[in-house]
Amino acid sequence: MEYFSYAYGLNHFEYDNSLDKVLKLFWKDYKKYQDKIKCFGDYVSRDVYEITEYIDRVSRPTIRYYSPIGERIDYVWINPYLKIVLEKLNEFEINSRTILDNSLFYHYALGYLLADAGLYCIITLNHQTGIMLYKYHKSEIYKNLLGVEKPYYYGGTWLTETYGGSDLGSNRTIAKKLDDVWLLNGIKYFTSNVGIADYTLVSARYDENIKGIRGLALFLVPKYNRDGKLNYKIIRLKDKSATNSVPTGEVELIDSEAHLIGDLENGIYYILEMLTYSRLDNSIGAIGIALKSYIEAMEFSKRRKAFGDYLINFPLIKRDLEEIKDNILRGLILSFKAVYEFDKVFSQKPKFSRNYDYARFLTHIAKNRTAELSIRSTLIAREIFGGFGFLNESPIERLHREALVTAVWEGATNVQALDMLEVLLKKNVFDLFMEDFSKIAKQDKLDEIENYYKNYLKLDDYSKQYYAKELLNKFANFIEESYLNQ
Ligand SMILES: Cc1cc2nc3c(=O)[nH]c(=O)nc-3n(C[C@H](O)[C@H](O)[C@H](O)COP(=O)(O)OP(=O)(O)OC[C@H]3O[C@@H](n4cnc5c(N)ncnc54)[C@H](O)[C@@H]3O)c2cc1C
Repeated sequence: MEYFSYAYGLNHFEYDNSLDKVLKLFWKDYKKYQDKIKCFGDYVSRDVYEITEYIDRVSRPTIRYYSPIGERIDYVWINPYLKIVLEKLNEFEINSRTILDNSLFYHYALGYLLADAGLYCIITLNHQTGIMLYKYHKSEIYKNLLGVEKPYYYGGTWLTETYGGSDLGSNRTIAKKLDDVWLLNGIKYFTSNVGIADYTLVSARYDENIKGIRGLALFLVPKYNRDGKLNYKIIRLKDKSATNSVPTGEVELIDSEAHLIGDLENGIYYILEMLTYSRLDNSIGAIGIALKSYIEAMEFSKRRKAFGDYLINFPLIKRDLEEIKDNILRGLILSFKAVYEFDKVFSQKPKFSRNYDYARFLTHIAKNRTAELSIRSTLIAREIFGGFGFLNESPIERLHREALVTAVWEGATNVQALDMLEVLLKKNVFDLFMEDFSKIAKQDKLDEIENYYKNYLKLDDYSKQYYAKELLNKFANFIEESYLNQ
């Protein structure tokens, strides 16, 4: 593998001190886990590279629809070695610590070091499915989903339909109650973990008279129904341009047995909560990809010569590498600040407090900004590789390709800006934001951001949307600078 990747075998925790710095800032129990995180930094630099690179280039998931005697089986065949890596990640307690400690920090710290977009996607889906069941469902299967108990189960969260991913209110999947079970009918167009998921959380319309997102509830859909038959059909696996270590497909729900999560009328709150876990994962993962691109580019520039000298010795290359390093630190600050606030409130249930809304506000900012930082960082790193960066044997090719998806899934960047606006205007969290940052930010910076926001509020509704991303970036910069300059 060292011939394919310069990051291979280099402890990802030790290579760059940004994670250490940021965890010291936000996580009171960090010391307790520091050695374990270091050990994980070594593990991810070896097996994870080998298997994910192999899957991406050589053995992508495939589907077998029929058994040898013609029964429909919809079996998604993944590289068997991937399962071994997933078991190992459970042994590292990547998901279980969340409920064992009632804290999200450990999960996200490891997620940053893992940061393979496909493999981490599998882990995050198990994580969010497990937490939602732990909080809102009476069964014990959350233990298997979170890796507390064996056998380990896999989860999934299937919301998107062809009619709209951002616009979830356009979901057409219907849920009808039949005795003690619900039956779901519809098509889910993007379904990650398909085939390997044992239990999936699915959005569906429980009352056709209630239009938009308010008419959606969240349901638990097992892979097999009570007769032991396939509970839904896999239409196909997607042929994707990124994240190949996680299978993503399209699923047809045909009278698929389902169990209600929580209360019908709170469906949209559960969906938003579930998305908050995965948006934080996305933020952390995006910056983790930036870290990998940093290691690859740094090590490449120590080996590649131009004009008689190694690239690493040229001022402009040094500047490029410094920019990536700076992006990593900024992205980690934003992500772990959001984790810190969400960690305090994630045990809450609807109706949530204003502090919960504040954590969601920070999450939209982190999700949006980290995707941009990741894409920018992998782009710089790819340029450092020059023409080699466009060859499939180059490690940076996959990293840059995978960084791109972090801007789209879990809600595209425009949608994050609009959702941030919604929570800002409807829940009025700006006061909390200012109160919080008055503890660390300089007065002139606080005044500047307050004035900016005051002027922003004078805009008409169209302009408010038009400038929403600008506002988000202004807030992101303010948060980053406040911590960097304290
Ligand atoms: C590899 C992969 C795996 C995925 N896995 C899953 C999964 O497991 N489960 C799942 O539910 N989904 C999954 N998705 C779907 C993903 O969440 C959606 O693609 C995403 O939310 C965007 O939805 P969309 O594709 O329908 O785009 P659209 O909603 O059509 O948006 C298209 C563009 O328009 C912008 N836009 C939309 N509305 C507005 C507006 N009002 N103002 C300004 N701009 C707007 C968006 O920002 C976006 O850039 C996956 C996607 C990918 C690529």
